[in-house]
Amino acid sequence: GVWGEFVSRMNRRVKTRQQEKDLLESALEQFQSALEALPDGVIFMDDHHRILWMNALAADMMGLLPTQDKGMPIEHLVREPDFVAYLQTGDYSEPLMFHPNSRNQVCYMITLISYGADRQLLAIRDLTQLEKLENVRRDFVANVSHELKTPLTVINGFIETLQTHHETLSTEKRQRFLDLALAQSHHMGRLVQDLLTLSSLEARATLVDETQVKVKPLIDDLVISAEAISAGAHTITMDIPEDLTIHGSATALRSIFGNLINNAVNYTPADGKIHISWRNVANEGVFSVQDTGIGIPALHLPRLSERFYRVDRGRSRETGGTGLGLAIVKHALSRHQGHLEIKSQVNVGSTFEAWFPKARLNQS
Ligand code: ADP
Repeated sequence: GVWGEFVSRMNRRVKTRQQEKDLLESALEQFQSALEALPDGVIFMDDHHRILWMNALAADMMGLLPTQDKGMPIEHLVREPDFVAYLQTGDYSEPLMFHPNSRNQVCYMITLISYGADRQLLAIRDLTQLEKLENVRRDFVANVSHELKTPLTVINGFIETLQTHHETLSTEKRQRFLDLALAQSHHMGRLVQDLLTLSSLEARATLVDETQVKVKPLIDDLVISAEAISAGAHTITMDIPEDLTIHGSATALRSIFGNLINNAVNYTPADGKIHISWRNVANEGVFSVQDTGIGIPALHLPRLSERFYRVDRGRSRETGGTGLGLAIVKHALSRHQGHLEIKSQVNVGSTFEAWFPKARLNQS
């Protein structure tokens, strides 16, 4: 009687407890899987920085072991001076920009947040990519300023000389100074034009002025200008199908072909040969400029289309190069879903190829 009533009440209580426990466990599981899914590293600690729990990403970022390292003070495990100093300051109003010595070029933003009576949360965000972009932007601004400053200094020098010595300078000298200053100002003009082309290519993911561009007449035009630059020093031959059209931007395509052809002229010594051709392969069409020029050492090839990257600064300057040509080619090609391929051998020559997807090509 009484015992029966007691036992069944106990049973009911145990059952409710079990249900509550199951409920709590499933809530905890859900909470943990949400924390695991976060794109940030998260570490829960007590007020002595002893680790209570961390997600897998945090373990990976900080080089910790998720189960073994539990209960250990984090500064005993991550012994990087910046990190330890941040934990010890006690002032967590600003996050720490953390560059671990053990990992090259990695940047984490670490924020310590206190909660509850004696709990702390360490949030770790990977800013490596963002920092890289910021560095690229900073380098670019510095490079542009430098590139513009050089011709500007030369122009200023000539103007000052003309101003101070205008009475004593011979007419020929004066003319020569003016010619040199004009050449520098043309160079600045080309630089600004290339920068504008590059920025308009970067500003949009797609092309706004797409039409069916006839390739042969465009190349004919560019070869005439290239022959003017070459002034008879090179033999330029060409094998481009008459009826080929590319669906794309005429100005961007002109930049691609023009830069590759002019580079071949600029980096090929007198008496060299330049061959411009087109070939169709499986799913692509390839525009190719082959020269018998100075060639490029293999170590430079991967960086050649970076903005302002030059193998030989002096030579590029001599030819009036801006160092932006191949960067423009690369961007303009990627706007056509194409890509650039370079093969080169020092003192033998180079082949630059612009690959276009078949979907953009038309040939009757
Ligand atoms: P630049 O204005 O200096 O020519 P580019 O971006 O067009 O700039 O080219 C980058 C660098 O690549 C050049 O400075 C040069 O060192 C190298 N280069 C480009 N085309 C050739 C080529 N056909 N032969 C040898 N080197 C080349």
